[in-house]
Amino acid sequence: MSYRTLKDLPLDENLTSGTMLCAGCGGLLLVRIFEKVLGKNVVTINAAGCMTLLSVFPFTPFKSSWFYVAMASAPAAAQGIRDALDMMIKKGRIKPEDDLKVVVVTGDGSASGIGLQATSGALHRNLDFYYLVYDNEGYANTGFQASGSSPAGSATKTTMPSQLSPTGSILNKKDLFEIWRAHAPPYIATVSPAYLADMMRKVEKASQFHGPKLFIAHSPCPPGWGVDSDAVVGLARVAVETGVWPLKEAVNGEVAHSIIFRRRKPVEEYLKMQERFEHLFKPTRQESILQSIQARVDAYWANVKK
Ligand code: SF4
Repeated sequence: MSYRTLKDLPLDENLTSGTMLCAGCGGLLLVRIFEKVLGKNVVTINAAGCMTLLSVFPFTPFKSSWFYVAMASAPAAAQGIRDALDMMIKKGRIKPEDDLKVVVVTGDGSASGIGLQATSGALHRNLDFYYLVYDNEGYANTGFQASGSSPAGSATKTTMPSQLSPTGSILNKKDLFEIWRAHAPPYIATVSPAYLADMMRKVEKASQFHGPKLFIAHSPCPPGWGVDSDAVVGLARVAVETGVWPLKEAVNGEVAHSIIFRRRKPVEEYLKMQERFEHLFKPTRQESILQSIQARVDAYWANVKK
């Protein structure tokens, strides 16, 4: 492994500064590191979402190619590009050493909802590509409506706490890791902006596999989650320390966790840092939903122990 600490990260940037994204965007930090580790020979396929604002003609912060498609079809576009590259190599129009890594970047709205069928198809066909979902747990670029990834108890524009539904969202977050694992791809991992060296190692490890290489990136979103831009990395760390965001990978279906804490912090520490969960504590504490959120996390880790 070439990546032991952050000092091993190349200084060259493949995604430069000055984009139109929000200051402190957790997703942007992870896309930047992802592109750094993958290098310059990359073509990135972007499903419509927040990251669409990265490349707006005639400006781009990328040193490599960028291809923008509708939310539903990024893995299908990746298939077309992979096939075209393979054919050009076969015909001798590009040298094998000039081949490009095909990378899909999507938000969770696309990954867990609108684009799920296209992803399922690509996994079924064993498409050789990378897939990074920046999971900000909502449709952030359109004002933060609920997605299939929004956690129970969170407030979004479409799950605002009210007298009838005081808890906000009543639905649990989809388990994308397990949905993907059921398709048996060679590599899946979760990553966090608070553990960048872990992410670097995972991207490097994934590169040895042919087929789908999938990453779910915890992506705190300052305007959508109600946190300050400079609190994003600290919040992401607490998500891991409370067990809300397990850092793990599945190599050929075999799951291993990167970190297992002997003592986890209470989930409340994570929830209290964000305005989207404020209604669970004020004006009155909503004990039952708080207990069920903690119980869900506890049940996950009890299963890991087993
Ligand atoms: S809305 Fe959230 S996810 Fe989108 S760019 Fe801003 S911080 Fe990032």
